[in-house]
Amino acid sequence: MKVFNTLTRKKEELVPVEPGRVKIYTCGPTVYWFAHVGNFRAYVFADTLRRVLEYLGFEVRHVMNITDVGHLTTDDDLGEDKLEAGAKREGRTPQEIARFYEEAFFRDAERLNILKPTVVCRATEHIPDMIELIKRIEKNGFTYRTSVGLIFDTSRYPDYWRLGRLNLEEQRAGARVEVDPERRNPSDFALWITNQPKHLMQWDSPWGRGFPGWHIECSAMSMCYLGEEFDIHTGGIDHIPVHHTNERAQNFAATGKEVVHYWMHNAFLQLGDSRMGKSEGNIITISTLMEQGVEPLAFRYLCHTAHYRMPLNFTSEALVAAQHGLRGLRELGLNAQNWSAGADRVWLDTLRKDFQSAVADDLNMPQAMAVVWELVREGNRRQDRNAWELLLEFDRVLGLRLGVAEDAPLPVRRLAEEREAARRAKDWVKADQLRKEIFSQGWIVEDTRDGWRLKRA
Ligand code: AMP
Ligand code: ZN
Repeated sequence: MKVFNTLTRKKEELVPVEPGRVKIYTCGPTVYWFAHVGNFRAYVFADTLRRVLEYLGFEVRHVMNITDVGHLTTDDDLGEDKLEAGAKREGRTPQEIARFYEEAFFRDAERLNILKPTVVCRATEHIPDMIELIKRIEKNGFTYRTSVGLIFDTSRYPDYWRLGRLNLEEQRAGARVEVDPERRNPSDFALWITNQPKHLMQWDSPWGRGFPGWHIECSAMSMCYLGEEFDIHTGGIDHIPVHHTNERAQNFAATGKEVVHYWMHNAFLQLGDSRMGKSEGNIITISTLMEQGVEPLAFRYLCHTAHYRMPLNFTSEALVAAQHGLRGLRELGLNAQNWSAGADRVWLDTLRKDFQSAVADDLNMPQAMAVVWELVREGNRRQDRNAWELLLEFDRVLGLRLGVAEDAPLPVRRLAEEREAARRAKDWVKADQLRKEIFSQGWIVEDTRDGWRLKRA
């Protein structure tokens, strides 16, 4: 398996710390609002990576955090905590907000058939681990104090710039935020923040009562569950210059080691010319898709059509094409019900090899999808049941639940409910109109003893 390492800007052979076992850490969601499909591009990427590794025979330990404290609205360590802003907005406690949006996140992730990571860990439940790690960083001489709290001195780590290819002079000139006069370098950041009496979530620490900076949680929890050297760290490209650069600096300051061996980053999902993002105000959620009658798995299919390191444009045309593609793949299964297994397996073995080399080449999913479609065409031509069996094998990587019949879209299900209500009211004309409406949308409603059921027309 080859992976592109952001640290070296090269495709490298993946050599795990422990042979046969790959340890992955993924920066998880900040749970103050619904995750959008842009965020989910990052999690579909991490999930596909995990599935590819498992398909190729590695055992995978996948850890993902939940950020429920410390992620501020600005990068200057003085902004409001996003969780507390969410709490204010909704008149609830930060903890209520965190649990609510964490649940919503996993509900959407399940709809996208994203496998639950081996370990899911919350920042608020690892404050003592963070404090211990900060103590090590302090003992090794990488910190100083200001009125903000305990600050990491980035000039003590000469390799600081490497992950983000940062030029400190440029950074200084382009700094958006007013540079804090107490800081030695503009890139310095807080490990522990004190003197913010309005902040609701606070803990005692050797540096005073306060709360952790955002970056320390990922250093602490990744090492806590994966050890002081592990294989892969994933996230979106926006994390390269600040969050992951700072994480790497903390890791080195505490351990003297290059803790993460391969940094992998996905490019953005874009809407028009800009990145989809909460701060851009152009977000679309999984629920929005469902309301529009789009299957969440069509979005997963869409993700596979672009390489993870390439921007992906989110357009309704692309989404419709993905929905068609997904149905086309399922159709092979319907056709195959009437076929028997062919004797010739050579063509299948060739396609399997092609699929494996595509996914093992830094997750070249567009290439893998080309192999998938070759399989579908050839399977239909030969009317060979083995084609469907192989497609189901590939689906361990694709994660499209191809073996499961499509769920009727939400708007169609609503029509079926309306029809049921009309039937109960003995309004046969309306019920019949609704049946036709459902049919025109590609579905047949059937009445069973347990109520209505929808089947694709
Ligand atoms: P956040 O909840 O803001 O910390 O983001 C969660 C993950 O989504 C991070 O890995 C981000 O890099 C990633 N992300 C945010 N916006 C996008 C986008 N438009 N496209 C792809 N990934 C994104
Ligand atoms: Zn992180």
